This record gives sequence, C-alpha cells and structure tokens, in this order.
Amino acid sequence: MKAVIIGCGIGGLTIALMLRQRGIECELYDQANVQSGPDVGINLVPRAGRELVQLGLLGQLDNEALQTRESVYVDSMGRELRRNAPGAEARFEYPQFSLRRGRLLKLLSTAVQARLGSSCIHFGHQLRSFTQDERGVTAYFFDGHGSHCRTASGDILIGADGLHSSVRALLFPHNDGLRFTGRVVWCGMHHWPTFLTGRSMLIAAASASKLQLYPIAEGPLKGQYLTNWSVLADVGRAWEERREAGPARPGVLDDVMPYVRHFSIPYCNASALIQATRELWEYPLYERVPLLQWSHGRVTLLGDAAHAAYPAISNGASRAILGARCLADKLADAEHPRHALFMYEQECLPKGRRVSTGSTADHTPVTNSLLWHSSQRSDTQKPSNVVRFLRPRSNASESRSS
Ligand SMILES: Cc1cc2nc3c(=O)[nH]c(=O)nc-3n(C[C@H](O)[C@H](O)[C@H](O)COP(=O)(O)OP(=O)(O)OC[C@H]3O[C@@H](n4cnc5c(N)ncnc54)[C@H](O)[C@@H]3O)c2cc1C
Repeated sequence: MKAVIIGCGIGGLTIALMLRQRGIECELYDQANVQSGPDVGINLVPRAGRELVQLGLLGQLDNEALQTRESVYVDSMGRELRRNAPGAEARFEYPQFSLRRGRLLKLLSTAVQARLGSSCIHFGHQLRSFTQDERGVTAYFFDGHGSHCRTASGDILIGADGLHSSVRALLFPHNDGLRFTGRVVWCGMHHWPTFLTGRSMLIAAASASKLQLYPIAEGPLKGQYLTNWSVLADVGRAWEERREAGPARPGVLDDVMPYVRHFSIPYCNASALIQATRELWEYPLYERVPLLQWSHGRVTLLGDAAHAAYPAISNGASRAILGARCLADKLADAEHPRHALFMYEQECLPKGRRVSTGSTADHTPVTNSLLWHSSQRSDTQKPSNVVRFLRPRSNASESRSS
C-alpha cells in the first residue's frame, strides 16, 4: 500500500513515521518551500508524547523539550485554584513535553528523512486537485508560479494540510464558512527567570482574558528559561474589521498589554516578560461548523484539516498525533484501504468533534475556558460548548503557519 500525504506539519510527519513503522510506503508533499511559520511554544499531552516516544524519538525530545511537571491554575492575583501534575509526574507513564514548535517540526522531519529517505519529502508542491477511482488516487501538484510540477499516485491520500486544508475544501466544498469569534490569542517567547518549580505551566484567568506561561527550553543563564507566553482575550467582533484577514500575523505590544496589566502574579511578572519579548504573534480565532465525516473513498483528513482545536487547551497537535496513530493502525490492519479510512473516522471523529465542536451562538466565556482547560487536563469533565480556532482562508501560496 502507498499513501500520498499532503502537508509536512506535525500530523503529516508523524503519520509518515508511523506508516513506515508498519511497512506502508508513503510520500509527503508541502506547498511551503521550507518549514517555516511562527516558532512559538507548544506542549504535548502525555498520550501524544507516548506516541512520539514509541517512534523512538525520546532522545531527540529530551534534547529539545522540557518535561512539564505541573499545571497551576490561578486567578488574576495569582491565588491558586487548582494544581495538576501531568505526565510522568502523575498517573501517566509518559511525560508532558513542552518545546518550540519549530524544533518539534525539525526533529520530526529529520527522522522522516533518515528513515524514509530525503526523496520522500517534496517541498514547494501545492496540491490543487485529485481524482480517485477503484484502483487508487491521483494528486496534482503545482509550484509557486502556478505551473503543474508533479502528478503522484497512491492507494490513499491523507489531507494533513492544516486549517486551510485544500483537501477538505475539495472533499467538502460547502463546509467553509468562517466566522470571527471576537477572540484573539497573542503569543511569544523570551528568556525569563524561573518561576515555581521551573517546570510549571501557569494558567491565570481574569474576566476577559487568560494568560498562560510555561518554560520550553533551558536559558543561556542559570536560573533562566526560554518561557512561552500566550494571552487569550475577548476583543469583540469589531476587532477583525480593522485588520486584514489572514493567518498568524506579527502582534502589536500596545494591543496585548491592556489584557495583561490586570494580572498581578507574585512570582512571575507577566507584563515585564511580554514587554521584553522581541517578536510576538497574533492569532484571530474563527469558528466553522464541524464536519460530520472526514473520509470519502480513498481520501481522508488528519489533524487541523479534520478538527481544528481551540488553541487555549493545547490540544491540536496532540490530537493530530493521536489521530495519526489510529489511522496508521487501521491501515495496517484493514483488508481494504477504504475500510481502514472508515474505521479511522468511526474511532477518531467523535473525539475530534469534542475538541472542535463549535456553536455560532453561544461561546464559553474566557474564564470558563480556564476551567475547561483544567478539566481537559484531568480528564474529569467534558466541555459542553467551545469555539474552534480557525483563520480565514488566505491565498493559496500561504506558507506554513501554526
Ligand atoms: C498559538 C497556538 C498555540 C498552540 N499550542 C498548542 C499546544 O501547546 N499544543 C498542541 O497540541 N497544539 C497547539 N496548537 C495547535 C497546533 O499547532 C496545531 O493543531 C497543529 O500544528 C496542527 O498540525 P497539522 O499537521 O494538522 O497542520 P499544520 O501544522 O498546519 O500543517 C499543515 C501543512 O500543510 C501544508 N499545506 C497546506 N495546504 C497545502 C496544499 N494545498 N498543498 C500542500 N501542502 C499544503 C502547510 O504548508 C503546512 O505545512 C497551537 C496552535 C496555535 C495557533
């Protein structure tokens, strides 16, 4: 069996490694010329970490990532509401990894090239169309000038092409209405003095904003870590009207500071950290009606293409990795590729919908999303209603962004 994978993001690279492990051939295609996009922090829940460890990547992760020991939920004054011990520190056998997104992509693509050969990855190839019949799928790729540059065929096609998935748009052309939720996430990273255990994720909520801080790498000085921060704020729907719609864009300090100043956390001066950050990013949050199916014939969706998740719960990449595991297992076990895709959808779609279920009418308040985040971590409750994170479709030559 051979798979054609669209997208060299976390989902695409991970499924390639898993297919290789199961003796299934694959090729990867990405429209970007190089791996790029905002290099902000990302953290992987223990179940996703386990999948990467089982791919033999523990050494690489240990070199690049910090293992997060606890998540501490506080109010805007730093008063503790709850404390969870994730990963190896708690009931999980595997740790929760926190690292730079760019480093995670790099270690995954290095492993793919080492195990599958460098010729299996094709950058600068944008999927624009595909056909399928009883014998297989055929995908058509175009270069940055819009010229057809390659035709690839395989038994299945996996659309791991992110939030603005072309595969999704081709499969489900009517599922593309985006609506700005009135919320924005700003994020960045900077070297900063250690706080709490030095491996703590801090999540603080105020009435209209939520702040998240966690270390992602050792710093150049003792007692310092490269610290990732993000601020989720209710900015109102008018916000997007004064912006050009698009993917992640450079953030403006004056925009984010009003949502940060009312946090007064004794052991970490978040305002000073954010003011010291050289490069910050702004992600507007959009919603879209969740899909009722991900597969059609020999074509399926994986990761953000299937189920974009609300970024504040740190779940999108983890779900892409867990989805990749399920899909790889089904492909290895099923008698026919179409049956495998059906089985994958049956198992993963309900979980994907739980992280991406949206309502256009009723949004969970920011403060409640703190509680939801907390409950997701402890697996004790499920959200009744959350918004999803999506950006408007930008032009087709858009390079990778998270
Ligand atoms: C601010 C922020 C913080 C986040 N933090 C976390 C976190 O802490 N933990 C977590 O688990 N998740 C987090 N996420 C979510 C996570 O980044 C995404 O869920 C994850 O990167 C999705 O991976 P993917 O492989 O599905 O898609 P992507 O990483 O978006 O990759 C898609 C790839 O497809 C390519 N592509 C697109 N269209 C085409 C085409 N037509 N032809 C060829 N190639 C194409 C793109 O160039 C890109 O490389 C965060 C997201 C944001 C925005």
